[in-house]
Amino acid sequence: MDDGSPDRTAPPDVAALARRLPKVELHCHLEGSARPETIAELARNNGVVLPVEDPRELFEFHDLNSFIAVYEIICRSLRTAEDFRRLTYEALDDGAAAGVRYREMFFSPGFVIGMGVPIEVVWEGIVAGLREAETDLDIRCRMILDIDKPSGPAPAEALVRFAGTQDRDVLIGVGGDSTERDIDHRAFAEAFALAGRLGLRRTVHAGEDGPAENVAIALDVLGCERIDHGVRVLEDPELTARVAAAQVPLTVCPISNVVIANLCADVASHPFGALRAAGILATVNSDDPGMQGTTIADDYAQVAAGFGYDLTTMETIALDGIGASWAPADEKDALRKRFLAEFDELRSEAGLALRHEPT
Ligand SMILES: [Zn+2]
Repeated sequence: MDDGSPDRTAPPDVAALARRLPKVELHCHLEGSARPETIAELARNNGVVLPVEDPRELFEFHDLNSFIAVYEIICRSLRTAEDFRRLTYEALDDGAAAGVRYREMFFSPGFVIGMGVPIEVVWEGIVAGLREAETDLDIRCRMILDIDKPSGPAPAEALVRFAGTQDRDVLIGVGGDSTERDIDHRAFAEAFALAGRLGLRRTVHAGEDGPAENVAIALDVLGCERIDHGVRVLEDPELTARVAAAQVPLTVCPISNVVIANLCADVASHPFGALRAAGILATVNSDDPGMQGTTIADDYAQVAAGFGYDLTTMETIALDGIGASWAPADEKDALRKRFLAEFDELRSEAGLALRHEPT
């Protein structure tokens, strides 16, 4: 008889439970979080002609370079502070719905600055969206200013200087995104050194469509504390051992690597399992959830199913997101306590034994 209580004899559906875990997200792009219908509306308002009728077709891409072309269309549709406020609020609304309690989110002002939108306008809108989201929603967010690497090092220094003048509690660091093809990461050494002197945290996209060597350059030349993607570190056993020993966090984006970078056929064959098995602090993130039509909850579910992880492992991955974040120590402690309490709530609801971890 089904009395509504959980069936304690059935194996738990870890993928379904993983969706509902509280999460930290450290690799998510503001512009890539855009809802297609919002971009269609903003494009119309701003007189931008889209190449497709149906906004959902706008977000169709087949590799990293065609993805970047779509990304540019999104950026062309963003002009006013109100556009950025709305984009930021909606990105956090969608993140909160996927269980994200804390996010460090990239924004890439290079494209829009190139089209004449002052960075102050971009930032005013983002801060307004953040404040509003933190009032309305159960999510906390800090921003990372992303340097567009194909634009070269020349515009990078001005962006870093701008970041350095903002409240560090809101704009916490700098990153460098886009393709690694034909990019010499060493060219950004001065910009990243300046970021370090200004007290900004540093991360960079490396080892996604570029070699393991780019991960070493990120650490040794750019002074990065974290690596975005970084999955190709596995091509260099010595570097893999070093990244594992130093517990340099990798912000891995399994679904993105399947649908954008075509690194592997599906999440089950993604190197994420090998990275964790090598002792690397590999976290799970969504990258560009709006453009992909996914959320971080899908990444958690597919990682759980693809690697056959149990619930404890998925919870540990969620906790590793807290450790890999740049939140202050007291905030990390509070997040950890909260996550452990939420894990046990979820477990008791599912009729599973509690995690029994001291808080
Ligand atoms: Zn990314």
